[in-house]
Amino acid sequence: MINLALFTVFVSLVFSSCQMSENQARKSSNKPSQTSTTIVSPTPSSSSTLKPIFTTTPANTHTQVPSITPSPTITGTPTPTATWVYHPAGEIEVPILLYHHVSDEEDGNRYYVTPRAFQKQMEMLYERGYKTITVSQLLDVLIYGGELPPKPIVITFDDGHMSVYEDAYPIMEKYGFVGVFYIVANRLESDGFVGVKELKYLSNHGWEIGSHSFSHPDLTSSHKQAKHELLDSRLFLEEKLGIKIQTFAYPYGTIDPFIATKTQNYGYRGAVGLGTSIKHTYGTMYYLSRIEIHGTDNLKMFSSYLPWEN
Ligand SMILES: [Zn+2]
Repeated sequence: MINLALFTVFVSLVFSSCQMSENQARKSSNKPSQTSTTIVSPTPSSSSTLKPIFTTTPANTHTQVPSITPSPTITGTPTPTATWVYHPAGEIEVPILLYHHVSDEEDGNRYYVTPRAFQKQMEMLYERGYKTITVSQLLDVLIYGGELPPKPIVITFDDGHMSVYEDAYPIMEKYGFVGVFYIVANRLESDGFVGVKELKYLSNHGWEIGSHSFSHPDLTSSHKQAKHELLDSRLFLEEKLGIKIQTFAYPYGTIDPFIATKTQNYGYRGAVGLGTSIKHTYGTMYYLSRIEIHGTDNLKMFSSYLPWEN
């Protein structure tokens, strides 16, 4: 077994994922910035080797979503009988995507992917044979080893917006895809956000529901609130939904060694952050890298985030 007590992570991020910090991110690019991002992630065997998990990606060259017509029916020809592949424990390559809104409300806003663009993205994944898994499934294989589809992918949504239930879910359901929905506890049932009914429905249809804190602070400057934000949000969602909450998404993608340790201590199996890497190891279980998909990404840009294509 892994000695999780030895696990520590340090992250210094210059970008973040949510509206409040929009000006901090992608000032000159619609790719997440990797500059000044470092992670120190000792392995469970206490090795002192440093393993940066973020990698540099090509500069963005696209700015517009192309004019596309949603297809009313599934027309792709994936490989439905693809054989699952065994992965040994310890290291795995799976892209984890991050969305916020899937909505026409604010076309051109980085946090709003239009349903039309989202439809084309899901169609592309389906036609190329990708199969969705949850973060918990990824952790299962990372920890214990196990089988996954040949092209596994994780699709996550932060903040709990109703548009995910109303617009993203029906599109994903059409392709047999499931997502992972990270909920801010004190926004549950608020205007524009999902409530218990929607989350129970998604959970019953294969989605994983995770915590995105109680009130969405930058946890690195809210150490005194760590128990409330991490533990109370988990217990609150578990009580409301009647399910186990297994994973956490850091607000703004920011953590420090204290928060990483507390996230583990307060009962999460793992947590997700931001980044561009698709490689996950024991050392990154509490900061799994997620690739943020922006409303300004066209389909070619989206394709460039996918591995195994070139
Ligand atoms: Zn958020």
